[in-house]
Amino acid sequence: MKITVLTLFPEMFEGVLSNSIIKRAISKGCAEIEIVQIRDFTTDKYGRTDTPPIGGGAGLIQKCQPIVDALKKVSGPNSHKVLFSPRGTTYNEKIAKSYARLEHIVLVCGHYEGIDERVNDYVDELLSIGDYVLTGGEIPAMSVIDSVVRLLDGAISQDSLVDESFNEPILEYPQYTEPYEYDGKKVPDLLYSGNHEAIAKWRRKKALILTKEHRPDLFEKLPLSKQDKKLLAEEESGETPKWEKDALEKGHKFIK
Ligand code: SAM
Repeated sequence: MKITVLTLFPEMFEGVLSNSIIKRAISKGCAEIEIVQIRDFTTDKYGRTDTPPIGGGAGLIQKCQPIVDALKKVSGPNSHKVLFSPRGTTYNEKIAKSYARLEHIVLVCGHYEGIDERVNDYVDELLSIGDYVLTGGEIPAMSVIDSVVRLLDGAISQDSLVDESFNEPILEYPQYTEPYEYDGKKVPDLLYSGNHEAIAKWRRKKALILTKEHRPDLFEKLPLSKQDKKLLAEEESGETPKWEKDALEKGHKFIK
């Protein structure tokens, strides 16, 4: 897929595109990222792209002409055009997944005090990354690039995408690394049991509990299976369930 970004600050993207997974995905051809300078499209003889708002008020507002001309130049019939705005739909994993299926996305970054209202008529969608105000749409664009590119075939191992937070309305289970004990805090013994079924059950239980505690709004939307309800009831009882005891007992040779 291709992602085109329209911005007044192309240099801001250098770090994001030249490091880690995104850099690798681009070099493997999973994604093509095009960063376009809006200023190159202005017809203003002084190269201006923004002016004070009509009617008075603080700051500078980006003019229609350079943005709309840039949009027309970079877009085709299959381009999905997104304008970053605090007014837009709030971005989430579901939207990231829908973008990852598209052929071409064009991301328009506002800057300064905002953008002439009439630019809205030339895009397909307004998108926000949360209820706070940033100085520009560049950081939202980087969030979209990062979250979409990692979903593309070949960008990362497909296994990493299974069980991730927000696949369902649920957070990921807790993860641990060696050593077994760090600063008096131990890795749960069950994870050393070698019993994959019990580990999967334990992880599901922890994911349910974490979501209930940290994101009650998500938990409310999660359709609970019979097994989920049983796992939560076990947790509430405060007792170690039989399957967990059995896994710990049989797996004793793996447990430190
Ligand atoms: N004056 C505007 C307001 O009160 O809504 C804020 C403009 S902001 C300083 C400049 C640009 O940053 C916006 O046009 C938009 O492109 C981008 N921006 C800022 N916050 C954003 C957010 N939460 N989500 C998406 N884009 C944002």
